[in-house]
Amino acid sequence: MPEQPLPKQRPLSATDEFAFSTPRFPDTESHAQWLMAFLRRDLPALDDPRWPETQHGAWEFATIRGALVVPDDDLDGAGRPSHSALTRVQEEVRHGIQQVRRNEWWELSEPITYGLAQIGRTLIGGPQRGSFRSLFVQTAMEVIKAEWSRLRTCPHCSHLFIKLGKQAYCALDCAQTARWDRFKAVRAPRDFHAERQNALRKRHGAHLHVGRKTRRVKNPG
Ligand SMILES: [Zn+2]
Repeated sequence: MPEQPLPKQRPLSATDEFAFSTPRFPDTESHAQWLMAFLRRDLPALDDPRWPETQHGAWEFATIRGALVVPDDDLDGAGRPSHSALTRVQEEVRHGIQQVRRNEWWELSEPITYGLAQIGRTLIGGPQRGSFRSLFVQTAMEVIKAEWSRLRTCPHCSHLFIKLGKQAYCALDCAQTARWDRFKAVRAPRDFHAERQNALRKRHGAHLHVGRKTRRVKNPG
C-alpha cells in the first residue's frame, strides 16, 4: 500500500501555533469571511434577527485560539458580549483598518497576558487572557494581517471584502447592479410608443397612426 501523505497543518497565521476548528470556523478562510460579514452588519438596528448568532459568533471568534476572557462591563448578565461591546469592537476594527491604510499604527488599547510554565522537562505556554474586546481585536488584527493583500473595498457599496480570484465587487448583487448602472448610463431611454408604432406599421402599413396610451396614475404625488 502506498504511504498516505500527512495532512497539511494550517495555522491561523505565521505567528499562531493553533486554532480550534468548529462548525462555524472550520478553517482560516472562515475567520476572514466571518469578520467581513460582521464589519458590514448594521448592529445599531436592535431588531436584527441575527443578533444571537452575531453574539455567539463574536465570542467564538475572540476565543478561537483558546484565550480566556477576563470578565468586565462588556459582558451582559449571562456572560455574553453586550450590544454596546460588539458595536465598539466593530468600530475599532473598521477604524484600525483605516489607520493602517493611512500608514499609521493600529494598536491594541488593552493588555493581553500570557505565560510559560514547566511541566516535567517540557515548557508549555499558558492560554492568553484579556478582555473580550482586546481578544476580539487581536484576532481581527491577525486575520487582517494574513489577508491584507486580498482585502478590498467594494466600488459599489464601499464594504470591505476578501478578494477571490478576479472578483471586483463584494457580492454578485453589487456586480450586477454596477453593470446595470453602467448599461443605463450609455443607453438612450426606450421610446415605447415609437417601438409599438413601428411594429404596427410593419404589420398594417406605413400610414397607420398609433395614439398614445394614457395611464391612470395610482397614488398621485
Ligand atoms: Zn458591494
